[in-house]
Amino acid sequence: MSNKDSFTDMLAAVQAFHDKHDFRNTGGEELAYRVALMTEELGEVSACVTKGKDIHKLAEECADLFILLIGTAISADFDLKDAFWAKMDKLMQRDARMINGRIRVSEFRDT
Ligand SMILES: [Mg+2]
Repeated sequence: MSNKDSFTDMLAAVQAFHDKHDFRNTGGEELAYRVALMTEELGEVSACVTKGKDIHKLAEECADLFILLIGTAISADFDLKDAFWAKMDKLMQRDARMINGRIRVSEFRDT
């Protein structure tokens, strides 16, 4: 039985999806194609916001993008969980500034 809180199980579910359609041998794991698909889904996320669609539709489109991201990690053979925690640690060390009324967390190399 799967544990829905487990990233390992989420990764296994996406791997099973890739295996079901043999993405590795049918172009589904080509990185340029995956970038195009992620761009397409990001556009759908954007449309949810700009067209004022309900939160369930926004959640579905974010899930599409998240599934693609996990699948891209499978395709390129990197550990997304390790990358997430390494980057999260970096982000937590960074400074924040208000820029044009909105907060920005960055390295701010200009000072
Ligand atoms: Mg979608």
